[in-house]
Amino acid sequence: MDAVSHFAERYSEARTHFLEAARDNAAPLVEHHPHPLVGPAGEALATEVVRFGPADAPAVLLINSATHGIEGFCGSGCQVALMRDEVVVQPPPGVAVLLVHALNPHGFAWGRRVTEEGVDLNRNFAAFDGPLPANPGYADIAAWVVPEDWHGPGGEAAEAAIAAYIEAHGHGAWQAALTGGQYTHPEGLFYGGAAPTWSRETLERVLADHVGHAQRVGFIDLHTGLGPTGYGEPIFPGAPEDPALARARAWYGADVTCPGEGTSTSAPVQGTLYDGLRRALPEAEHTPIALEFGTVPLDEMLLAVRGDHWVHRYGGLNHAPGIALKARMRAAFYVETDAWKRAVVDRSHAIVRRALAALAAG
Ligand SMILES: [Zn+2]
Repeated sequence: MDAVSHFAERYSEARTHFLEAARDNAAPLVEHHPHPLVGPAGEALATEVVRFGPADAPAVLLINSATHGIEGFCGSGCQVALMRDEVVVQPPPGVAVLLVHALNPHGFAWGRRVTEEGVDLNRNFAAFDGPLPANPGYADIAAWVVPEDWHGPGGEAAEAAIAAYIEAHGHGAWQAALTGGQYTHPEGLFYGGAAPTWSRETLERVLADHVGHAQRVGFIDLHTGLGPTGYGEPIFPGAPEDPALARARAWYGADVTCPGEGTSTSAPVQGTLYDGLRRALPEAEHTPIALEFGTVPLDEMLLAVRGDHWVHRYGGLNHAPGIALKARMRAAFYVETDAWKRAVVDRSHAIVRRALAALAAG
């Protein structure tokens, strides 16, 4: 079956593809986590969990899509392709594969990175009962990021201020301030939240129910938006001194990057799913990566995310500027060409095969 056919136009279609592939392969576990809200067409939303292999397998490979909502167009297509090509449906002895589809279904359906709470889920796994990570750089840029007057003089002034900030501090400082995660501006971008979101609580329940017994956990979190078009960068989401980095490189190769080393297209971020995994499964040996598929140049992606926030905060969805910015947002996280879809499927197959081989070897 051609890889292109596994991808979907809309969230609801992606969900159908996923559940059909699970059913056709007689997955021993199919679990539904209904979301309390609906999508733009009134469609039901849910996170779904499918397992292949035994419930008590000592090693679990967890493959997750749509942490960042709209990025689920890619992640869901990869998950369906993995099931259709039988890479994951008959895992090696001692290994189970757990596919979590649309962890942020609201963002997926509405074409946003954020959850219904306006939160970046990959910044939401902070410990909210203690001091939250600081990102003082965000306060410096907050006023320019989503100007109310997006298409007018206020918007032009904001762009000029951002250009001056980059000139003074460097592009890396701008990217870090904007994308590193912040807990101070709920209306802003890359906001980590003030409490666990529905999506975080859902993942924590899934981990407790289906991964809590595992001694070794491989984690592949499927993302898009950073890096060269179609390339899948394996990003280690922990600190450079974390011993799991060496293990990730042993599994996947020396091209595993680490934001804390400065080797990644991603700035270091705080409150990630990996933080949540370690908190939920403190005894397990973790080998996590974000598999980040490139789409458009970095500045275009950041502009698209800012525009999306403007649409939902000020502009509205049902007139020409809003429609254009939503199309730009989609193009920044999903490249709708056959070549791109085949490239991401080939890459995710290769990565998953390596993870399964490493987990089977023990
Ligand atoms: Zn992402």
